[in-house]
Amino acid sequence: MDFEAFTTDKKFWLKELCILPCLEEGDVLDEDIHYNYFIKANDLKDRTVGCYNWQFKRHGLRYEFGDYNFNEAIRDVQLKVGNGSVLVKGKEKALFLAKYFNVVELPETLCSFKKCRECMEKACRLGHSKTFCAKRKVYILRDAYNKMAKKPDL
Ligand SMILES: [Zn+2]
Repeated sequence: MDFEAFTTDKKFWLKELCILPCLEEGDVLDEDIHYNYFIKANDLKDRTVGCYNWQFKRHGLRYEFGDYNFNEAIRDVQLKVGNGSVLVKGKEKALFLAKYFNVVELPETLCSFKKCRECMEKACRLGHSKTFCAKRKVYILRDAYNKMAKKPDL
């Protein structure tokens, strides 16, 4: 799981949340099955704090844009993942999501989104940032996680 968000004072205002199942050998699931939520952040009252414009330029998602309210999206994902482990990279994200899910934090060294040029074709076709697209990032995470799982000694 990964998300893009506005942050103010350590609070996250989620904008894009994406979950991608970890496939195991023999799974019949389509490798392209994923769920992407665009979330409205209408409660983000003070748009001057937290460098709103700078953050907006990063992910390209306006605060009012989205199909879901935060609670709706979280409830929907909870129904999908149940008690299953949710793999998340990034300490603050993991802490935030642990309120809602059974979070397992991935090692910070797993991969770097900024340097990574792969999976560009997985970014959503919305015209928002490709580098900071939560959907693209979950594919990068899954690839890196699968590689790590195959070489546990590294
Ligand atoms: Zn996206």
